[in-house]
Amino acid sequence: MAIATVNPATGETLKTFDALNAGEIEDHLVRADQAFQEHRRTSFARRRELLRKAAELLDADQDGIARTMTTEMGKPLAQARAEAAKCAKTMRWYADHAEELLADEHPDPADVSDSGAARAVVRYRPLGTVLAVMPWNFPLWQVVRFAAPALMAGNTGLLKHASNVPQTALYIEELFRRAGYPEGCFQTLLIGSGAVEDILRDPRIAAATLTGSEPAGRAVASVAGDEVKKTVLELGGSDPFIVLPSADLDKAVRVAVTARVQNNGQSCIAAKRFLVHDDIYEAFAERFTDRMAALTVGDPMDEQTDVGPLVSEQGRSDLEELVDDAVHKGAAALCGGRRPPQHRTGWFYEPTVLSGITPGMRIHYEEAFGPVATLYRVADVDEAVRIANDTPFGLSSNAWTRDPDEQARLARDVQAGGVFFNGMTASHPGLPFGGAKRSGYGRELSGHGIREFCNMTTLWYG
Ligand code: NAP
Repeated sequence: MAIATVNPATGETLKTFDALNAGEIEDHLVRADQAFQEHRRTSFARRRELLRKAAELLDADQDGIARTMTTEMGKPLAQARAEAAKCAKTMRWYADHAEELLADEHPDPADVSDSGAARAVVRYRPLGTVLAVMPWNFPLWQVVRFAAPALMAGNTGLLKHASNVPQTALYIEELFRRAGYPEGCFQTLLIGSGAVEDILRDPRIAAATLTGSEPAGRAVASVAGDEVKKTVLELGGSDPFIVLPSADLDKAVRVAVTARVQNNGQSCIAAKRFLVHDDIYEAFAERFTDRMAALTVGDPMDEQTDVGPLVSEQGRSDLEELVDDAVHKGAAALCGGRRPPQHRTGWFYEPTVLSGITPGMRIHYEEAFGPVATLYRVADVDEAVRIANDTPFGLSSNAWTRDPDEQARLARDVQAGGVFFNGMTASHPGLPFGGAKRSGYGRELSGHGIREFCNMTTLWYG
């Protein structure tokens, strides 16, 4: 895949970049390793100062970097600005909380008295240089949610970003440099995915984190496994959105639309499958379809646009194939199901609602990465749980019910890294984020996220 900025709203190639050669990659590895030897010894106060400065600069750059993101991957501009704001907030959150999250732990002497220790301490030390392989869909957020905790823990980072967001990738490196981080603390590698294996095998790389598709996750985790290096994987999702009779239906419908079409439908934690109780199915289906059909599809730079283009021609044809397969096998398109005729250029696709989904359709098991919702009619909470879990993925889930027994049941039985009641899944720096099953393993954000790339060290004093 060429390293290039191609505007998905027009299909125009705006800028291309040469991949780094072997010598340049080596220079980056040397710098990262040298920087780690310094950075790991800096105080939390110094790290806090640097990350807070980066947040301040990012706030000042908000509109510019938002426009770069929208140009490179097509998300509506307001959503790009919100992404930049969330990144700055997360930087501040980790700047302010990291010291406490990584504070030494002191096991109760009574619990370890027979170990022979006069005292023992558990200390979170940094691991080293972490390779981050990241996707284009939240090109700033995915990187920051790795980088902010990693840098606060004393690690250094090397970013291999998706090949279609090179300008955003270079901006992030520059942001940390401007904030005052020493050379090598955080660097962007403009490389294709074929160059990842050799870098990951290099002894100067301690660990890897990957957010992206299952094939990419499998490739990186296989190499890391072979090298016995720690990985965190954040992969795809096909989150259920369960609506039961006690739900506030108006709110559920409104949030369902946002949860499905956020980021032009290209979000791992977008609600993708809508499982609605028989008693309210008709009302939900009608209102949801009306709202989906009323969305404005168009230029993502236009403030009136709700849904911009898909990221690439390939992304759109993958989605079209899923929809066509379902319709061919008997699903009904309640709205959409085609390219908007008014857009002759760019990779647009109409917001789509499909009903009558059966397990024989590819979309029942595969991730629909675009503004396409599938509707299921369920008889009761048992059937909702069964269909919710009938997927290879287990990233997050949404459940609309005010009944405490149903909430307890869903909290116990839905196989996912999150169950969000009466609201949509959204990440927050203070809450762990990650999946089960083929959505990956490990966690980002919160104390759990920052400790993933630490060497949890037992200090034993005789
Ligand atoms: P992708 O094609 O897997 O790419 C992700 C990153 O992996 C890119 O940097 C890509 O580089 C690299 N890559 C691809 N194949 C690789 C390989 N064999 N070895 C090493 N690196 C490789 O995914 P995407 O299309 O950018 O993103 C969409 C997917 O990400 C969806 O499935 C979505 O659900 C998932 N996602 C998950 C989360 C989460 O938190 N769980 C968040 C966002 C997105 P190139 O660009 O150079 O190919």
